[in-house]
Amino acid sequence: MKIGIIGTGYVGLPTGVGLAELGHKVICIDREISKIEYLKKGKITFFENGLEELLKRNLENGNISFTSSMKEGVSGADLVIIAVGTPPHPVTKEADMKFVHSAATELAQYLDGYTIIANKSTVPVGTGDDIENLIAKRNPLADFDVVSLPEFLREGFAVHDFFNPDRIIIGTNCERAKDILKELYDPFKEKSEIIFVKRRSSETIKYASNAFLAMKIHYINEMADFCEKVNANIYEVAKGVGMDSRIGHRFLNPGPGYGGSCFPKDTHALHFMAKQNEIELTLIEATIKGNEKRKKEISKKIISKVKHIKDPKIAILGLTFKGGTDDCRESPAMDIIYDLLDSKLNIVAYDPKGIKNAQNLLGERITYVDDKYSVADNADLLVVLTEWDEFKDYDLSNIKNKMRWKNIFDTRNVFDRKEAIRLGFSFSCLGIGDIDE
Ligand code: NAD
Repeated sequence: MKIGIIGTGYVGLPTGVGLAELGHKVICIDREISKIEYLKKGKITFFENGLEELLKRNLENGNISFTSSMKEGVSGADLVIIAVGTPPHPVTKEADMKFVHSAATELAQYLDGYTIIANKSTVPVGTGDDIENLIAKRNPLADFDVVSLPEFLREGFAVHDFFNPDRIIIGTNCERAKDILKELYDPFKEKSEIIFVKRRSSETIKYASNAFLAMKIHYINEMADFCEKVNANIYEVAKGVGMDSRIGHRFLNPGPGYGGSCFPKDTHALHFMAKQNEIELTLIEATIKGNEKRKKEISKKIISKVKHIKDPKIAILGLTFKGGTDDCRESPAMDIIYDLLDSKLNIVAYDPKGIKNAQNLLGERITYVDDKYSVADNADLLVVLTEWDEFKDYDLSNIKNKMRWKNIFDTRNVFDRKEAIRLGFSFSCLGIGDIDE
């Protein structure tokens, strides 16, 4: 199949590379010329485990190519996938559709022969109709169908998730499109469930899924607060709760709040759509408010831990919104650091992959180091904000004599609490009461 993919970001690129690996002829289109130049050389512009190797292989065998020309990418394609950003509107927080609308308008004129336009961007319900209208208006003779193909990959596991999707949701009622998409997803039929639903149901499934996961995180964070007060241990509680197969273990880790490019924007967008439709989504509303409060509470805890120290220095481990990615979009670490900066605190930070993106957001307002131990030099408090795997084997004895105050606040449960206390650190975390039985 000849496939054009519009947008070479965290979704478009893994999708393009994965489809090329399956043997399709893929052309990825991006309006950022510098990105395209990079990709043509086999280099990716963000961190995603295993993606660059796969990209290089498919560049060499000619299955994937890159262009900034919509004409080149769309002409003659059997399938065009839209994977452009849908960021939150700065004021209303609704999904900003300008990239999707411009992609649909631009691609319309180059359609030749029957083409499926599959939308992978997370979009408000009814966007399929908008895309259809925009294309038909621009090119009344075009022969096409618009389907919704929501993406569920996780950053940091994008390659794995492309080849092992939990489920494939295809939103269309059109038989011609269904037949072609069945062929496209044939290699997955043994390991994943593939379902065809109404286009609007498919668009809703994406928001309903992300909102549910955000809510689950918010729930366990509130339970962590409860455990702290009643001297229970949230990790034991989460384990016991998660053993119920109706609930499951995943997303039951307390932390400084959810973040990233999806959950915050998608909960807001869903809330906005509900308001537009005069529906109250009380759980989503509580989740959004609770998550904002969560980050503020963590900031307050950090500030209170150093309030007795003159010119305290705070060492931060982790800037990205989760481990395994360089993405700092809506990372709780960013919001917490903004609060700490407002309180005039000195901050030094280390992150395995996220420093460049953090610098784009925070500039030089904090100091960055490229070593997970030197970050603690002369620090008064070490705060873990992201659960990178490499923090799990952090040797606390290495920093024991380097910190000014031996004080740790682990918001991600990556350190061994007992070991930290044994080494003489003053140690706090989330969801564990002070009294040990
Ligand atoms: P991104 O910002 O990383 O990438 C979007 C790319 O689209 C950019 O490179 C941009 O230059 C390009 N672009 C924008 N308009 C264009 C146009 N008209 N022509 C050509 N290129 C254009 O975004 P992302 O994180 O990949 O997300 C894309 C969509 O997928 C969003 O709707 C997002 O909500 C959804 N999504 C993201 C994830 C994730 O983990 N990031 C997961 C599932 C779904």
